[in-house]
Amino acid sequence: MKGMKERLAKKIKLITIVSTLKQGLAHHRNNVDRTIHHLKEEIFAESGQNRGCVTPTLLELEEDVEEQEQEHDLQEEEREILLEFEENCPPGGEDSIVFYTTGLRGVRKTFEACRRVRFLLENHRVKYKERDVSMDSEFRDQMWRLLGGKVTSPRLFVRGRYIGGADEVVALNENGKLKKLLEGISLVDSPCEFCENERFLICSSCNGSSRLIVEHHDEEETSNDSKMWTRCRECNENGLVKCPLCS
Ligand SMILES: [Zn+2]
Ligand SMILES: [Zn+2]
Repeated sequence: MKGMKERLAKKIKLITIVSTLKQGLAHHRNNVDRTIHHLKEEIFAESGQNRGCVTPTLLELEEDVEEQEQEHDLQEEEREILLEFEENCPPGGEDSIVFYTTGLRGVRKTFEACRRVRFLLENHRVKYKERDVSMDSEFRDQMWRLLGGKVTSPRLFVRGRYIGGADEVVALNENGKLKKLLEGISLVDSPCEFCENERFLICSSCNGSSRLIVEHHDEEETSNDSKMWTRCRECNENGLVKCPLCS
C-alpha cells in the first residue's frame, strides 16, 4: 500500500513536471511567436509596407484574386488578337518578333516603309529579330517562301503569325492593337551581347571574304595553279554570319 502511494506521488510529481514543461514550452513558443510577429512588423515598417497586419485581410485576398482575374482577361485578350492573324511561322519565330527588312536605299518607298516599322518596334521597346534581306539571300528566300511570292519588305511576324507589311503595322499601332500584340515579348535592356545589334558577325573562318583557299596537293607539282578558291561554308554571300541571338 505504501509502495503504491509512493508510486502515485511520483506519478503526480511527474505529471506536474510534464505539465510545467508543457506550459514552459507553450510560453516559450508564445514568446517566439511574438518576437517573429514583432520582427515581421518591423520589416514591413522598414520596407514602407506596414499595413498594421501581417496576414492579408479577406479584402486584400479578394483584391488579389480580382487582379489575377484581370491579368488573365488581359492575356486572353492578347491571345484573341493574335488569333485574328494567319498562322505562319518563320524559322525561330515561335515566341518572338521576326522583322524582315532591307538596308538597301535603292527603292526609297521600301526603305522608308522598313524604317517606319522599325521605328514603331523601337518605340514599343521590344526585342525583335531583324532579318535584312539585302544582306543575306537566305533571309530573302525565307520571306518569299513564307508569303508565297516575291514580296518586298518590310514584313512583320509575331509569335508565329503573319501581321503584315508597313501599312498594316501602322494601322494596328494607331488602333492600339499593336501594343496588345507585342505584350509579353521581352523588352530591350541592352544591345545584343553578340553583335551589338548589327545582326551579323564577320565570318571568322574566311575573315568576311566568303571564300577559302584550298591547297591542292598535286603529286607531280608541275602546275603553278596549285591553289584553288572555294566558297566558305560558314557564312553567306557577303562573308557574314547571322547573329544567333538577334537575327
Ligand atoms: Zn545579335
Ligand atoms: Zn566565311
